[in-house]
Amino acid sequence: MTADIIDGKAFAANLRAKVAAMVPAFREKAGRAPGLAVVLVGEDPASQVYVRNKHKTTVEAGMESFEHRLPADTTQDALTALVEQLNADPAVDGILVQLPLPKQIDESAVLATIDPDKDVDGFHVVNVGRLSTGMHGYVPCTPLGCVMLLKDRLGDLSGKDAVVIGRSNIVGKPMAQLLLAENCTVTVAHSRTAHLPEVVRRADIVVAAVGRPEMVKADWIKPGATVIDVGINRVPGAEPGKTKLVGDVDFAEAVEVAGAITPVPGGVGPMTIAVLLRNTLVAAHRLADVPYDEKAI
Ligand code: NDP
Repeated sequence: MTADIIDGKAFAANLRAKVAAMVPAFREKAGRAPGLAVVLVGEDPASQVYVRNKHKTTVEAGMESFEHRLPADTTQDALTALVEQLNADPAVDGILVQLPLPKQIDESAVLATIDPDKDVDGFHVVNVGRLSTGMHGYVPCTPLGCVMLLKDRLGDLSGKDAVVIGRSNIVGKPMAQLLLAENCTVTVAHSRTAHLPEVVRRADIVVAAVGRPEMVKADWIKPGATVIDVGINRVPGAEPGKTKLVGDVDFAEAVEVAGAITPVPGGVGPMTIAVLLRNTLVAAHRLADVPYDEKAI
């Protein structure tokens, strides 16, 4: 058996196009474009690439992009003051503070300063609480993107056995909450889970969000299962001095057993920015009091 490849790149392009198609109507009703503010502190190279991509895709979708780049030695107070200024700015619908932050900054204190109604990353405890109690809020982009891919592939997820490997606040925990909301039977595995391969073998849906290159092997996967690989790991490439990206799943092996699988790159990765734009569009409608069908995208 060879798994179907879930094309996250194409799905994300389609999602971005749907968002872009809805921007003109919003502009007309609200008299302005949806606005996303991204704050980058320091010079982490990966973060710089992410922020550049976010700016580019935001502009391409017809939205306003506000970039704030602060030096690595920025103080907590200075960053808090900027977030408060963005909270009060009516042109800004979504605020994203790029993580990780430099050591002198208390990350959770900064996230707590963001207005929950502009928290398009869904990391504020108010939105975490809304997600876990089934209220409207903002859901972290990567796990929401994973659920979109799963529903596109499988339709109704009710009654499926899902195993999420990883319990971070950014991916694992919100992923588990979303799958629970879709009526899956959810197991959350982590570094202390006993007999992990056996646990994973029970799953109709496997979501790997670990950060360990190619950890999940073919014999961990139930034949026909749907495998979502969130991992992004840079490892040495075939040629000396070159690197390549791999996921948390041993793709070459797993593709022979799974029913469907996301590749790395080109699977979950492109979904994150597309969902960020979608969340910003939703925030803009809510803040400007423009009616919006939340099921539209
Ligand atoms: P974290 O490091 O915050 O969390 C990793 C999780 O994996 C932890 O819960 C940890 O368990 C668990 N874990 C570690 N080792 C093992 C093991 N041997 N067996 C079982 N579980 C283990 O990572 P993130 O959640 O932030 O990210 C996970 C991966 O997803 C990374 O590769 C990251 O780059 C990628 N990522 C991709 C995104 C995208 O856009 N596609 C966005 C965000 C992340 P414990 O809690 O016990 O320590």
